[in-house]
This record gives sequence, C-alpha cells and structure tokens, in this order.
Amino acid sequence: MQVYRALDRLMALGLVHRLESLNAYLACTRGDAHGADPVAFAICRSCGQVDELEAQTVRRVLRSAAASRSFEIEAAMLELTGLCRTCRGFDTVNGAPA
Ligand SMILES: [Zn+2]
Ligand SMILES: [Zn+2]
Repeated sequence: MQVYRALDRLMALGLVHRLESLNAYLACTRGDAHGADPVAFAICRSCGQVDELEAQTVRRVLRSAAASRSFEIEAAMLELTGLCRTCRGFDTVNGAPA
C-alpha cells in the first residue's frame, strides 16, 4: 500500500508515468517535473524501448479541444507503438536495411 501511495505522488509530480498498454511504470526522462501535462511515449514493439517525446503541439491541440467543452484535462497520455531507430536499422526479418 505504501508503495502505491508513493507512486501516486510521483505520478502527480510527473516524475513517474504509467503506461497503460504495458501495464508498467516508467521514470520520467525529462526531469523537469512537468506534472500532469500531456506527454507522448514511443514504445518499440520489438525491443520494448520507451522514448518520452516532446508533445507541445499535441498539448496545445488537446487543451484547446478540451477548453471548447469547458473540460479541464488532469492527465493525458499518448502511447505510440512502432519500431525504434535501432530495430528499423537492423531488421533481419525483412533483410532490408532502413
Ligand atoms: Zn515525463
Ligand atoms: Zn526497438
């Protein structure tokens, strides 16, 4: 129970993110305590590498879309699935260099 409370606190501060699709927690890689700001994660389906992306444009779009409904966003998370640079460059399945 203590552990989950601590995680809740870290998540509220934006220091830890929860990835629903992986059912996993991830330490924030930005280190700027961005709170509940919307963030985007690029998740490699091959090696499992997770990259936290700058999502300022996405943030603006979501904020204005929500504002038009008088909705206040408390948390937003985008999980992008695909192949990372490394996995694309060494694609032995297709035998084709990226
Ligand atoms: Zn973060
Ligand atoms: Zn990969």
